[in-house]
Order: sequence, then structure tokens, then C-alpha cells
Amino acid sequence: MAARRRLAVAWSIAWLLVQAAIPASVSAHHSASIKRWDVDNDGVWEASDSIVAYSQGGVAWTTQKINRVTEAIQRWSSQTDWNPWFSSSPVSHKVWVDGSAPSGHSVCDVTWSQIDDVATTCNDMINKGSWIRIIDSDTFLDSTHTSFDWGTTSNSNYSGRGVVTHEIGHGAHLIDVNWANCDPFGELITMCGTAGGTQTWGLYTLTADDINSANDMYPP
Ligand SMILES: [Zn+2]
Repeated sequence: MAARRRLAVAWSIAWLLVQAAIPASVSAHHSASIKRWDVDNDGVWEASDSIVAYSQGGVAWTTQKINRVTEAIQRWSSQTDWNPWFSSSPVSHKVWVDGSAPSGHSVCDVTWSQIDDVATTCNDMINKGSWIRIIDSDTFLDSTHTSFDWGTTSNSNYSGRGVVTHEIGHGAHLIDVNWANCDPFGELITMCGTAGGTQTWGLYTLTADDINSANDMYPP
């Protein structure tokens, strides 16, 4: 059985300052953040803040990968108030499947050897007081050191679709759930922060905890 590896989020410096200032564990839902976030920077918590486009980063894209990433992103928009979508036109939020690391492609100056993660998401955020503005969010899969399978039938490799589903949750400002809280009802929470290859196939299925946490971040 493969060792569980981390599915991480790398926050920008601005976030670290915010995190130090807020109390731990206020939310009733495991992966919900304390502060809601704002796309248009008007300080108003509104449904339109949830509509965020992603596009392809880097190279190595195939029709199969595009289909799986599209499905992973649509998982959130079809089941929660978080409404990301995969655009065919370039936008600032990107998904990288070619093994590129955050360093050089985002504000998170980290390489894969520094973080040893299967995948990570870099959020560029500013603390605005009662809310957080997310300026950009980029998801990276370490396809150089990890074997991802882009099909839909589970096997011992990491599920590209499952891992992207998890990482896009970070784009909604959701946080990793620690392993002890990952499987409360016999179903693996998508925002579980550690998973083995076989387990990542289950991440495509959002649990009530994931759905409730995403809905905490946005109005319907
Ligand atoms: Zn994560």
C-alpha cells in the first residue's frame, strides 16, 4: 500500500500574518476557513465572488486531462455555492499538470523538493480586515515525482481528477483536514490533507463536510 502523501496548500506571506491573528477551530465544518473571501474587493459577501475561472497552465495537456480537470472543477460548481469553471481562454487562475512547481509560476517561491507534496495550491491573498481578498490561486501537480492516472477507473496510481478536485477546494479558501478527521462517516473527505494513491480516487466525491464548508464561504 502506498504511503499517504500530502495534498497541500501553500499560502502567500500575507496569509501567514492573517493566520496568526485568528483563533483556531471556530468553524463547525472541518475545512472551512474563518474568514470569507472577496474576489472583487468591495468588502461585500456576495454570490458573484464565487464565480472564478481557471485555465490551463504550462504544457503536457491532452484531451483526457482537460476532461478530467473540467469534471473536477465542475464537481464544486454543481454541488456547492463555490462556482469555479474551466475556461478555454487564459486567465490568472491556472492548473498546472506538467510538473511545474509553484516557484517561478506563482507568488509561492517553493520547489517540489522543499515541500515533498503530491500537489499544492498557491493562494495569493491580502488580509482586508473582516474579509480576505484572494488575488490569484494556482494549482500544481507534481507529475515529475508522482504517477497520475487521468482515467476514471481506480487503480494504485494517484487520480488526477481526484487530486485536482481537492486542490480546487483550496481555491475556495478551504483548508486541509488532518488525517484523524478525514473519515468520520466511512467516507473520505475530499479536503483530507493526506491520501495514498488508491484513496485519491475517492476525492472526486464530495462529502457533506466538503459541501458544507464550501457553502460557508459563499452565499447561495
Ligand atoms: Zn490540501
